[in-house]
Amino acid sequence: MLVNLYALSRAELNDFIVDLGEERYRARQIWEWMYRQRVDRFEAMSNLPGATIARLEERCRLGSHELVTRQRSRDGTDKRLYRLHDGQLIESVLMPYDDDRMTACISSQVGCAMGCVFCATGQMGFGRNLSASEIFEQAMRFARELARRGQRLSNVVFMGMGEPFHNYDASLAALRQLMSRLEIGARHITLSTVGLAPQIRRFADEGLQARLAVSLHKTDNAQRSALMPVNTRWNIDELLDACRYYVTRTNRRVTFEWAAISGENDTCEEAHRLGRLLTGLLCHVNIIPLNPTGGYAGVPAQSARVKRFCDVLRGYGISSTVRVRRGIDIDAGCGQLITTVLRNQQLG
Ligand code: SAH
Ligand code: SF4
Repeated sequence: MLVNLYALSRAELNDFIVDLGEERYRARQIWEWMYRQRVDRFEAMSNLPGATIARLEERCRLGSHELVTRQRSRDGTDKRLYRLHDGQLIESVLMPYDDDRMTACISSQVGCAMGCVFCATGQMGFGRNLSASEIFEQAMRFARELARRGQRLSNVVFMGMGEPFHNYDASLAALRQLMSRLEIGARHITLSTVGLAPQIRRFADEGLQARLAVSLHKTDNAQRSALMPVNTRWNIDELLDACRYYVTRTNRRVTFEWAAISGENDTCEEAHRLGRLLTGLLCHVNIIPLNPTGGYAGVPAQSARVKRFCDVLRGYGISSTVRVRRGIDIDAGCGQLITTVLRNQQLG
C-alpha cells in the first residue's frame, strides 16, 4: 500500500525518509514542497535527485482522496465529492468571496449521527468518523490548487458533513494542522457545532483563537428537539450555559447559526424570544435561509421576513448578518451533492 505523506507528522516523515535510504535533510525539503510550495506531484520537487523522486513515486502519494465529481456554480462556488479509501463519500466546498477571501468548507464525518430533520447529511445517517488527515486533506487539496493560481486558502469552516464535536480529537488535530502546515490563523478557522455542551466547554479550554459557531435555529425546547434531536440531550439552557462559559474563558463572541425556515422560525415573536434569550451574551447571529432538501418539507424564509427578524434583533443590541446562500445551482448545501449523486446512481 502506498504511504500517504499528508498523514505523517514531521517526525514520522523524517523516519520514513531515512528508512527509504535517503538523507535526513531530504525530509525537510519534501515537507517544504508539500506545505510551502504546495505541489501536487513528486516530479515538481525540483531540488530532489531523480532517483529520490522515483523512489517516492514508487512508495508514496500525496493524499488519498479520489475525486468523484466536481461542480462549479455560477457564483464561483466549487464543490467536490471524494471517495475515501474504503469507498465512503464526503463533500467539500470552496467559496471565493469578493474581498479575495477563499473559504474552504470541510467535512468532519461521513454522514452524521445528529439527525437534524432539515439537513441532507442528517437524513443520510452516520457512516463513520474521518481521521485528522482525511479532514485536513480536503483543505490541503484546495490550498494546492489555489497555489497553482498564485492564490492562498485564507479561511476554513467545519460546516460540511458531520458534527466536528462528535469527532472531537480528529477535528482538533486537523484544526492544528491547518494552522501549522497551511499557516491559516486560528481566527480564520470556524468550528460549527449542533450544540454538544461538554465539548463546547472543552473547546473553550483549548486556548485557541478559533471561532465557534453554534446552530441554534429555535428558542423553544420542544420545538428545537423536534428539529434537532440533540436538544433532548443538552437543552437550550445547558447549551447557552456552555456558550457563556466559552465567552468568559476566551473573550471571544459566539456566532449563532439560524437556518431561516418560513413560518417555523422567521416570525417577529421568535425574533423577540431570541433577542431576550441572547441578551447579555457576547454573540452574533448568522441567518441563512433554509436550503430545501428532499427529506424535509420546510421552505426558506422570505427576504422581507428575514430583514424584519434582523431589525427586531437589533432592538436588543444583537448584531446579525444574512448569509447569501451559495452554490444553490450545484447542491452546495451540506450533504446535498452526495444525495443527488446517490439518487442518480439508483436511478441509473
Ligand atoms: N454539524 C455542525 C456543522 C455542519 S452543518 C452543525 O450542525 O453546526 C453546518 C450548518 O448548516 C449548521 O448551522 C446547520 O444547521 C446548517 N444546515 C444544515 N442543513 C441546512 C439546510 N438545509 N439549510 C440551511 N442550513 C442548513
Ligand atoms: Fe449533523 Fe450538523 Fe446536519 Fe445536524 S446540521 S445533522 S449536526 S451535519
